[in-house]
Amino acid sequence: MNIHILRGQNQIGGNMIEIATDHTKILLDAGLELTDSDGQPLPKIQGLFDYAGYDAIIISHYHGDHIGLVYHAHKEIPVYLGEASYNIILAADRYRRIETFTPKGFLHHRQTITIGDISVIPYLCDHSAFDSYMLFCEADGETVLYTGDFRSNGRKSFSALLHALPKTVDTLLCEGTTLSRENYVAVSEQELEKRAVDLFRTATGPVFVLQASMNIDRIVTMYRAAKQSNRIFLEELYMAEIATAAGKNIPNPNFDDVYAFITSPSRHAELMKHNHIAGKSFIASRPFVMCVRNSMFRYLKSLSQKISFENGLLIYSFWSGYRETDSMKSFLSECEKMGLRIVTLHTSGHADANTLKKLIDTVNPKSLFPIHTENAEKFKEIAPNVVIKK
Ligand SMILES: [Zn+2]
Ligand SMILES: [Zn+2]
Repeated sequence: MNIHILRGQNQIGGNMIEIATDHTKILLDAGLELTDSDGQPLPKIQGLFDYAGYDAIIISHYHGDHIGLVYHAHKEIPVYLGEASYNIILAADRYRRIETFTPKGFLHHRQTITIGDISVIPYLCDHSAFDSYMLFCEADGETVLYTGDFRSNGRKSFSALLHALPKTVDTLLCEGTTLSRENYVAVSEQELEKRAVDLFRTATGPVFVLQASMNIDRIVTMYRAAKQSNRIFLEELYMAEIATAAGKNIPNPNFDDVYAFITSPSRHAELMKHNHIAGKSFIASRPFVMCVRNSMFRYLKSLSQKISFENGLLIYSFWSGYRETDSMKSFLSECEKMGLRIVTLHTSGHADANTLKKLIDTVNPKSLFPIHTENAEKFKEIAPNVVIKK
């Protein structure tokens, strides 16, 4: 079995790994690089765009840096990904009026799929994308485990995952996103929830949360904190559609205390499909936690004419790097001007060094390829007995 990391090795994002035997060739992930933007030429990868040169593309999770190129891939290459992942993508694409690809099949925890002479077993793992998988491949008597992106500080049990994973692999392709942060220890979603409850209870004004609409775990955290502080939970249509697609246990406008709202009248028909909807007057009449995006400044401004923002909060729940973008800077400064206090409440979707070590010690790889990292060297410290490949 040949393993070839086409993209994503000494960088964060743009993952693409080729696994090949004499008869079969598959890709694990086909991601855009974080710096890729619309209109840029596609990377030169033979058989991905121009003809069906791969027997399958298996997607670990729906973040653009793992799935982005699938939208451009040759239509005859079969694509596999998680079912809930696909439902979420469909909802997001429908809202954004983007055409979605059609998958050949879905990944399910520990259910083997066979592509030619390669078998792939997905293992459900925790990450800031819902329904993420590690991918274990077997061919020619060799084994490879690709971690995708993962963490242990979410709501899924990490020890259950470790228990399920194979106890020996030939090659481990391991993410290392957080390794460039000195002594980073990941805070859990549960801890974040506690901090949010304290903040929401002490604020007497409105609470706004700036977070990724596709970060389902974070929606759960913020919803639970809203409930414990007797506030209704408000999801703008985009998030409401995604949360509804994620499954009935995820806070969505079918919940008693969750409401959908819109910031543009052009979305009225789509809003009406939801069970609980909230207009500005309704919102102004009770305590709430409202999830917002940084494009919603005008909406917030008009809301501030209906209700006082005094003693109100804006929870910044993103990676700190986004703070440096112009659109984020101007949104945050406008929010401050309207009287909101900005508080950061975030935790990473990626494993810290201790979590990486636990995973490596569990699957006992003979060799390890660092991926999705800017500090591959650090793996030598974490796994001193493993051959670290470049
Ligand atoms: Zn990633
Ligand atoms: Zn990811």
